[in-house]
Amino acid sequence: MNDAFISALGDIPHSRDAAALRVKSADFSWFSPIMSAALAGRLAEVVLSPRTEEEVVRIASACARHRVPLVARGAGTGNFGQAVPLAGGAVVEMLGLEKMVWRRPWSVRAQAGIRLGALDDELRKSGQELRMHPSTKRLATLGGFVGGGHAGVGSVNWGILRDRGNILGLKLITIEETPRLLELRGDDVNLVHHAYGVNGLVTEVELPLAPAYEWLDTIVVFDCFERAAEFGMALATGDGILKKLVSVHAWPIPGFFKPLQLPAGKAAALLMIGAETREAFEALARAFGGEITLCVPEAGLYEYTWGHTTMHALRADRSLTYLVCIFPREDTLGAIKRVHAKLGEEAFLHLEYKRFNGYMTAEGVPLFRYQGFEQMTRLYKAFEAEGVRIANAHTFLLQNGGMKELDAAQIAFKRSVDPQLLMNPGKVAGLDDLPGGISGTALEAAQLPASGWAY
Ligand SMILES: Cc1cc2nc3c(=O)[nH]c(=O)nc-3n(C[C@H](O)[C@H](O)[C@H](O)COP(=O)(O)OP(=O)(O)OC[C@H]3O[C@@H](n4cnc5c(N)ncnc54)[C@H](O)[C@@H]3O)c2cc1C
Repeated sequence: MNDAFISALGDIPHSRDAAALRVKSADFSWFSPIMSAALAGRLAEVVLSPRTEEEVVRIASACARHRVPLVARGAGTGNFGQAVPLAGGAVVEMLGLEKMVWRRPWSVRAQAGIRLGALDDELRKSGQELRMHPSTKRLATLGGFVGGGHAGVGSVNWGILRDRGNILGLKLITIEETPRLLELRGDDVNLVHHAYGVNGLVTEVELPLAPAYEWLDTIVVFDCFERAAEFGMALATGDGILKKLVSVHAWPIPGFFKPLQLPAGKAAALLMIGAETREAFEALARAFGGEITLCVPEAGLYEYTWGHTTMHALRADRSLTYLVCIFPREDTLGAIKRVHAKLGEEAFLHLEYKRFNGYMTAEGVPLFRYQGFEQMTRLYKAFEAEGVRIANAHTFLLQNGGMKELDAAQIAFKRSVDPQLLMNPGKVAGLDDLPGGISGTALEAAQLPASGWAY
């Protein structure tokens, strides 16, 4: 690492300790056996921990002057290798920027390094809450959710993060010798959202809020998965019943949730229901033949849903891996049932009901025992044959993941805020490829089909 760069940092806390470099260069890409192999040994050369926006500006300027690549990092809970540095350089850990900037009745502005759990706890004291959060809420940061996240608990009501109105504005620092501070609003926020931090350092984010109801953690079990899926859709679209989470799991997935001790052989729906509409919810569960096995004040049941489902499954059985897919908006249930009938023995279905681009639908995160690329490709194609769209969860390349389309405007924006292509290099294929490109497993993984994330 360039000594002139380190001295340009002045008193900004930084570490070159080997253990710190290892920890802060890693994320949750170990979820994918393919990505684990592809990212092995990728390390930053220094970890920087700015405490103020002024220090972030100084870092941006120093990186530009000394041509040092940099990767922004929140809590490092991303699972697509987003925060893993491919070209050495600096990891900029944003956790020191953790203040709420201001608060209005139905919106909030906070610094990017604030943990979503801490922010939500604060908001709830006065009856509002985040519209949605990842199941990693306790650890994940606001900037990391915007930079690498997609949707989560609350998306059954509010859609996904990129749906218009779910991010109101953000402040961005460009990577130039004299960095600019940009405020993006309206559609422009999506230039930065889910861009893996390749286009500027986000220091503040403004979000709209939702009413904080009294939520109940609830589990309903069913003899048959198809019925559980029908119930999930009825609850998700049942406008009178308050809900925040509708997460449905085919057996054997509930068996991976050891502490919950769910009945063997049954499908399970893990839910958050508004206390005011509990009776209506109970009537709906009865109508679908479900048995309510848990209904208690909110205590973190969501940490078995969304990405946590995969984590619990992998902890129970390391031979498992996953796909990420979205069921079609027409005949969502039909496609779910067809996929389950054809592939259910091999790919265990996990559904998260969510609104997406104005439609109620289900994201699927099927789990299966990994046997190699051939099996993975076969499964991708079998899902696609039923009208299901796939995102490639096994590549760190932004476009190849399929959740974000990088059009000309996105590329032009990237070039304007990071003209030397220093931010998170190697993640945008064709623009900032690493010397020699990618090869082996990483290349094969990048070539897995991804049918995109749009209706
Ligand atoms: C068990 C588990 C469950 C999960 N569940 C969900 C879920 O429900 N929904 C979901 O969407 N995701 C989920 N994820 C993925 C991840 O936890 C979330 O996206 C989370 O919001 C990431 O926050 P983070 O602070 O850890 O970000 P990081 O992993 O640190 O960063 C994510 C990306 O954002 C960039 N970034 C971070 N901070 C900034 C900044 N200030 N400026 C610019 N770029 C920045 C990074 O460079 C990186 O590319 C899950 C992951 C795991 C391991």
